[in-house]
Amino acid sequence: MNKKVIVIGAGIAGLSAAIRLQKVGYDVEIFEQEVMPGGKMHQLMADGHTFDVGPTLVMMPSVYREVFELAGRDPDDYIPMTKLDPMYEVYFKDKQYRHYRISSDLVDLMEMVEKKGPENAKGFLAYLAEIYSRYQVALDHFISRPFRKRSDIYNPKMIRQALKLKTFDSADHMMASFMPDKDLQQMLSFQTLYIGVSPKKGPSLYNIIPMIELLYGVWFVKGGMHTVAEKMAELFEELGGKINYNTRVDGIVIEENKVKGVSIRDKVTEAAYVVCNADFPYAITELVKEPKARGRFTPEKVDKMDYSCSCLVFYWGVDGECEELAAHTFIISKDLDDNLERIFDGRLIEDPSIYLHIPSRVDRDMAPSGKSSFYVLVPVSELETAKYEWTEETIEHYRNSALATLQEIPGLSDLKDRITTELIFTPKDFKKHFSAYRGATFGLQPTLRQSNHWRPQAKSMECEGLYFTGSSTHPGAGVPIVIESGRICAEELRRDEPEDDFK
Ligand SMILES: Cc1cc2nc3c(=O)[nH]c(=O)nc-3n(C[C@H](O)[C@H](O)[C@H](O)COP(=O)(O)OP(=O)(O)OC[C@H]3O[C@@H](n4cnc5c(N)ncnc54)[C@H](O)[C@@H]3O)c2cc1C
Repeated sequence: MNKKVIVIGAGIAGLSAAIRLQKVGYDVEIFEQEVMPGGKMHQLMADGHTFDVGPTLVMMPSVYREVFELAGRDPDDYIPMTKLDPMYEVYFKDKQYRHYRISSDLVDLMEMVEKKGPENAKGFLAYLAEIYSRYQVALDHFISRPFRKRSDIYNPKMIRQALKLKTFDSADHMMASFMPDKDLQQMLSFQTLYIGVSPKKGPSLYNIIPMIELLYGVWFVKGGMHTVAEKMAELFEELGGKINYNTRVDGIVIEENKVKGVSIRDKVTEAAYVVCNADFPYAITELVKEPKARGRFTPEKVDKMDYSCSCLVFYWGVDGECEELAAHTFIISKDLDDNLERIFDGRLIEDPSIYLHIPSRVDRDMAPSGKSSFYVLVPVSELETAKYEWTEETIEHYRNSALATLQEIPGLSDLKDRITTELIFTPKDFKKHFSAYRGATFGLQPTLRQSNHWRPQAKSMECEGLYFTGSSTHPGAGVPIVIESGRICAEELRRDEPEDDFK
């Protein structure tokens, strides 16, 4: 008989771990509280429109593809992708919006940068060269490996590598040291918000995110991001795995520091191993009930940790096919510093930055003919930090500011009157549907003190047979990064398996 593994959650990290474990011979069963796979990579449908709930920007496509390749499949049969050009457009709010088209062609991009003068152009190239070498160090020594014990990091070799990351300054400070132009600085550092941390606080290493966009492109998966989740679930089932939807796990059963299984509606399902993909801070406080098994992550400690920001997302069906617009558009607030301060200190944001995604610009099947599907995201505070409630008035405040901002963009002056369908996700919905602790959509904030060995790791050192994966664990948030988290988790479990006991 193959050894049984229970996975809590069919988010991307859980699916990544489940596929790998099923492939090497474990008997893997997933319990997911929602009605479909993907977690935050959920999908909504209304009036012929298809919307991705969470992730929309595909970066590092090779990481997505590898999941299918390792199972001997051709990824193009499951998740066909196209490279976007432009990758996106950026507007800076001012009396007259300043507009930039961010091409995926480095030749076109240099033309844009050189218009800012040779100092900025040299600075741009120097930034790319510098961050590329830090990226190689991060990949080889930090992102792709687990940290089980203190000596995994506190040893001369790792300390040498950590120093090479030079990550003590912030993302926006690093950019300012390379390029005097403020627009370029902001265009190349706001991406830390993709993982829920302010460019003012996020370590400069996270400037690898714009580098990854520039060097490897931004891609689109036919059918939208949720297709990735559907196809990973399909692959897992083809390999013999089992998924139970609509099934909420109430607790992880632990006896004498050893995992026994999970409890669902007072019934225990036993397993040799449990892989928990539910958000770590939630899981360690609510699913792990044995104080000893929580180790250093006591409820008090979890409460004191720093959490990423959250998101308010409007999903709109809009009249017209919007051919003049790109698939992704970022509109940066007139006072980005104030905007960032408010996200992280909890005040209501007067003039928020907005991200607009129109999947129907790339895939016409995602909206009815003559219409568009709009995804309008406003980065906001997580629930504990927010000094306001998510009332109808709060939503209306953000809806009005998003509309006022978007209506200045060419082609959208009458947007308000063209909205025919509306769905909304607030931070409360991210908490309710996916158990995101405090509704923080990117989990624990990836500050220096909450990264690498300081971040929760895949293997529980306090409970034998228990493993964690997902955005609040190492290496962090973002779809390719949690796919890696799933890989690390599966490898950690396999590493603990006594060879003779396998199968
Ligand atoms: C609005 C938004 C935009 C984003 N944009 C991007 C982007 O453009 N590109 C990008 O790469 N990343 C993006 N991200 C980040 C990315 O979506 C996440 O980092 C990633 O999807 C997290 O995956 P996960 O497996 O860690 O967690 P989750 O997706 O949260 O999965 C956890 C799963 O566990 C389930 N679960 C929890 N508790 C239980 C329980 N008790 N019993 C059973 N099941 C349970 C949940 O329902 C969920 O399915 C975005 C996220 C959001 C929210």
